[in-house]
Amino acid sequence: MPDTVLLGDEAVALGAVHAGISASYAYPGTPSTEITEFLIPYSRKHGGRPHASWCANEKTAYEEALGASFVGRRALVSMKHVGLNVAADPFINSAIVTIHGGLAVAVADDPGMHSSQDEQDSRYYADFAKIICLEPANQQEAYDMTREAYELSERFHIPIMIRLVTRLSHSRAIVRTGEQRAENPIKKVPVAGSWILLPSHARKLWHELLLQQTEFRRYTESCSYNTLALNGSRGGLGVITTGIARNYYLENVDELKVAPSHLHIGAYPIPLEKVRKLIDHCGTLLIIEEGCSFVERMIRGVIPPSIAIRGKESGELPPDGELTPDIVRAAVGLPARQGVELAGLQLPNRPPQLCSGCPHAETYDALKKALSGYTESIVTSDIGCYTLGALPPYNAIESCVCMGASVSMAKGAAEAGFHPAIGVIGDSTFLHSGITPLMDAITANADMTLLILDNETTGMTGGQPTILPPSRIDKLVLGLGIDPNHVHVISAFRKDTEKNASIIRKELEYHGVSVIIAVRECVETAKKKKREALAEVTK
Ligand code: SF4
Repeated sequence: MPDTVLLGDEAVALGAVHAGISASYAYPGTPSTEITEFLIPYSRKHGGRPHASWCANEKTAYEEALGASFVGRRALVSMKHVGLNVAADPFINSAIVTIHGGLAVAVADDPGMHSSQDEQDSRYYADFAKIICLEPANQQEAYDMTREAYELSERFHIPIMIRLVTRLSHSRAIVRTGEQRAENPIKKVPVAGSWILLPSHARKLWHELLLQQTEFRRYTESCSYNTLALNGSRGGLGVITTGIARNYYLENVDELKVAPSHLHIGAYPIPLEKVRKLIDHCGTLLIIEEGCSFVERMIRGVIPPSIAIRGKESGELPPDGELTPDIVRAAVGLPARQGVELAGLQLPNRPPQLCSGCPHAETYDALKKALSGYTESIVTSDIGCYTLGALPPYNAIESCVCMGASVSMAKGAAEAGFHPAIGVIGDSTFLHSGITPLMDAITANADMTLLILDNETTGMTGGQPTILPPSRIDKLVLGLGIDPNHVHVISAFRKDTEKNASIIRKELEYHGVSVIIAVRECVETAKKKKREALAEVTK
């Protein structure tokens, strides 16, 4: 196979294809989106194999991948780190069932919160579920580890996590690829009861998973992703790197007078024997890892107090944000590099903004007009392009916590006695996690209004199709049992602002649940469709 230039995400996708997956499922989320963006056209080009699709949310994606594994096929499920919170239920329990066809879970963390509401570290989830986690340091490892994940999954009968971070997911390098393996034949789970988590089965399966931990450790002690190099003299500095942090360390190490002993960890559970060997050899330990102080906190609990440990917990490395070569440089004791001063060059700040002509801007104008007669109001919102409505000049929303929370928070505020309580949610987020809290609100006839901003796409992640077309969202809402007199579909055009404001105002005055669906396609996806249509014509 030829060498190929791939994004880290694409290396995972191609690694999964070459490992013989039959299916891949995902919900878009930066920085994991490009895995499925790679696989959907790949599948189209190859007669629909492997199957690749977007799903309503990460939980349904995970469960669909589990279904493929259940019948013996290999499957990939991918998501961003906060998506794993949504998929946590099937994820944790899938570690207990006896995985049949190989299952890899690619989770892309976002240290530095480039496009996320937190910077949680998914290695804790893998540890919590007691499964093996592979953490690539570069695109080649992303490809190789994904392939290996399927062998491990079928060998140990567990899902394998591949933990990525933004800088790896979104940067390119040359990757040497291997031969494509054939798909697994369809074959149902051989062991009766191994997927039925009734307490009597689950207790047995859980116990077996605990017994397997020794085998997992044996694997991580001996695998090529965990490497230990001790230098000649005892009592010096030892460095532990994990995943991508190795690159930042290697950029600086040549300038040190004495090369430290070095343990790199790319596969978890942590290889404790290698850690002990390093500690026996060194006087001081520096732990460099992207994300939380996951390894550092574990090691602090097992080593003798005579060894000094430096890292995020002790302040040599920052506890949050991304690492950089310069941060690591300071932590290993090297002087700062001299930068080039560009005197007088003041770059202006460029805060993110809704695109010019964005339909959300028109709906926010209508909402603000509708609210102008109230001295107080509460507008809870959600995750998507429309979250930018929190910024000037709109200042239209007051919360963004997690997928679907706009609906439930508006209900909670209404039931606490606040009026008017308005939730604002996008179509994709509504279908992801907004339907269930709306059922709660309708059942309770909560005094709230929900605005669904339907731009016919998942705009923030680059315009993936929404799982249902706009023409079906009102029918879905009506099907939940809401009074049809309080469901409206409006057009999010400037010319309709006054009319829309008056519909919103009328519903704010109604003391019960109302839903207003503001429909207009995202201008970016509309442009993209035009470009594609033009390209078809000029072919
Ligand atoms: S991508 Fe679409 S939905 Fe997002 S801000 Fe731009 S126009 Fe609005």
